[in-house]
Amino acid sequence: MPQEIEPETEDLTAFVVEDEATTPEETAARAIYAALVADTGRPKGMGHWKPVVKEALGVKALWARRWQAVLELGKTLGLFEVDDSRKYPVLVPLEQVEPEPEPEPTPERGSYISNIDASIPDDWEPPGMLPCGHPETQYKKLEPDPEDHRRGKTYETVLVTDVADCLMCAAGVPGHPQYTEEEYKKPLPENMRRTRYKVMMGGFPGYCVDDEGYYIGGVGNDCRYYRPKGTDMCAHHKAETAARLPKKKRKKK
Ligand SMILES: [Zn+2]
Ligand SMILES: [Zn+2]
Repeated sequence: MPQEIEPETEDLTAFVVEDEATTPEETAARAIYAALVADTGRPKGMGHWKPVVKEALGVKALWARRWQAVLELGKTLGLFEVDDSRKYPVLVPLEQVEPEPEPEPTPERGSYISNIDASIPDDWEPPGMLPCGHPETQYKKLEPDPEDHRRGKTYETVLVTDVADCLMCAAGVPGHPQYTEEEYKKPLPENMRRTRYKVMMGGFPGYCVDDEGYYIGGVGNDCRYYRPKGTDMCAHHKAETAARLPKKKRKKK
């Protein structure tokens, strides 16, 4: 299903297709391509293809911005390009390369995968966590060896069982808040807290924290889905939830 679009109010640059979803703009761009390929006459001016776009979009009036968006999209998708070496610019269809079919997995590969024993041994224990929120398995930096400059290894793995020996605490690294026991709890540094900017940029959005910077928790580090009783949502999720409420409900507040 093509997306619903409110014409003229939306920023059409947002419709540049990033996945398989087909927008009306893409349909229109492909319609131009089909019309270009079908056209055998002499090159037409750009305006010649506007009716094709109107038809594809199902609109009577084609706004300049939307027309531009369709053209940009067509270029982005490699459907056509603008040749402005002539007296007037014309659209030129580009040769379409068929995507190569996915190679079938070879039987050897399949049998190799099924041969892997993925069962968990009975005596397996999950990696240990210290009460400070650091893993028990840590990396100790090795002093450079003046005798051997070519030594590749600069770290060695050590098992820390006493929180007093924690190398990460000593280095001032904050522990993962999800594992931190009450007495080790301290406010998270600013740069680890959830912010609207980080959420928008993608990647790790930061931890949900209360007003004092203490980690709240939540399913998948999202305080909207679980938090200890009596705890409020983080500032970011509070604002986001308020913004999503229907207008009527917001007025009543
Ligand atoms: Zn620690
Ligand atoms: Zn939150």
